[in-house]
Amino acid sequence: MSTIEIPNWLQNRAYLTPNRIAIKTDEEEISFLSLHKRVVKRANQLSYAGIKKDDVVSILMNNSINMIETIHALKYIGAVTVLLNSRLTSKEIEFQLSDSESTALITDHSFIEIVKLIHVRKIIESDFENMPEVECNIEEAFNLDKTDTIMYTSGTTGKPKGVIQTYGNHWWSAVGSSLNLGLHQDDCWLLAVPLFHISGLSILYRSVIYGIPIVLQVTFDAQKANEAIFTKGVTIVSVVSVMLSQLIQDLGDRSYPTSFRCMLLGGGPAPKPLLEACLSQNIPVYQTYGMTETASQVVTLAPEYSISKLGSAGKPLFPVQIKIMKDGILAKPHESGEILVKGPTITVGYLKREDATSSSIKDGWLYTGDIGYLDEEGFLFVLDRRSDLIISGGENIYPAEIEAVLLAHPLISEAGATGIEDTKWGQVPVAFVKLAEKQDVSVQEILQFCNERLARYKVPKYVYFVDHLPRNASNKLMRRKLVEMIKD
Ligand code: ATP
Ligand code: MG
Repeated sequence: MSTIEIPNWLQNRAYLTPNRIAIKTDEEEISFLSLHKRVVKRANQLSYAGIKKDDVVSILMNNSINMIETIHALKYIGAVTVLLNSRLTSKEIEFQLSDSESTALITDHSFIEIVKLIHVRKIIESDFENMPEVECNIEEAFNLDKTDTIMYTSGTTGKPKGVIQTYGNHWWSAVGSSLNLGLHQDDCWLLAVPLFHISGLSILYRSVIYGIPIVLQVTFDAQKANEAIFTKGVTIVSVVSVMLSQLIQDLGDRSYPTSFRCMLLGGGPAPKPLLEACLSQNIPVYQTYGMTETASQVVTLAPEYSISKLGSAGKPLFPVQIKIMKDGILAKPHESGEILVKGPTITVGYLKREDATSSSIKDGWLYTGDIGYLDEEGFLFVLDRRSDLIISGGENIYPAEIEAVLLAHPLISEAGATGIEDTKWGQVPVAFVKLAEKQDVSVQEILQFCNERLARYKVPKYVYFVDHLPRNASNKLMRRKLVEMIKD
């Protein structure tokens, strides 16, 4: 193990700036010092419950102060934390508990039914109300090589894999982000994305490492999120594109206060019309690219490039390197291939999956499975996931490109594209659209719109109208579930 240690993040923060606000909710505001005290108590209770250093413990909870206390408390004890997605089924939870060799599951009341039949030691949130304490040895410092958290991939191909995230991965992620976005004294980050996902967890860590408050919301709600920007001093918000569209809709003709400085947009392709709408409303959007395996954003586009590099995910954060490989050879500018990233935020690998680890990480480079290209100035353009690529008559079609065109239609509010099997072409693209409220458009009109903007082979062969698109807990479109909608 490396000898690099950083003082226990929250404990250190409570020592350095005890009175600064750590968390704001509708009900309360908590300083770093009182959060630290609550976490010490929680750690002692967990110690009473038999949790020890190096145990692996799973958390299945909704965003709450309780969840935050639990996340920190496990670090105070020196346990490894598995963050379970709140949308998992019992079977999936069971698999992740056993795969990670979790010795306990900490959960809240909303999940009691779903975990009822699972054999594992369970600690329900309400158990803490009267749980005694046994003083534990608080970890005074975190070794950067030690595993901090495990998050499972959603398992697009095969069984989900546990992504190992070390203290160092998270540390460097927070550092890399601040070297790019800067750190302002009055910064305040809205946390309305799930804490079990890297987008949410990384906000929590930045808050503690930077010494800035978060406004904590259980789930994303556009009106509440905008209210937090207008009245709670939020300066930075992390969103995926569908959340951003909802924010803009709710915003109407208001403008954000000048204190609001960053809309961090990631998680998937950003449709150009959305970026253009943000430009016209002076919303400072930073497009980003990153993933669970890179402990959040690794590439970010600064707003000064939002016009000249519209649609680009930007350049790497300072500690990160990127390159594009095509058929084993370094791609030239504008030539598309697989995106590779290297740097201190890259996972050390997938838990107990040496095969998957050695095929995704070679010589420190993570093979992301995403396709993209760099322009001559080194700006990254992400095209799509390799696994979502539609190959029709030998031509590559990126669903994201079709979706972007559909979303440019003023009456379409959400869109998804995927390939279906076709005897003649191998695969053909099909589209799923959700119309804006109380609107009516014909398939003919939509196809006409596509025909004007897409090469013939990229125009969807069928257009399905749907009430909702399949999205995961992070609000990301799950394209592989689109096909199931046809059967329905
Ligand atoms: P899983 O790996 O479990 O199937 P996932 O890849 O969606 O799920 P995340 O790690 O949260 O889980 O998401 C990272 C992925 O999101 C990237 O690999 C990429 O495919 C996509 N993505 C992220 N940012 C962008 C972006 N700016 N443009 C296009 N796609 C992006
Ligand atoms: Mg992935």
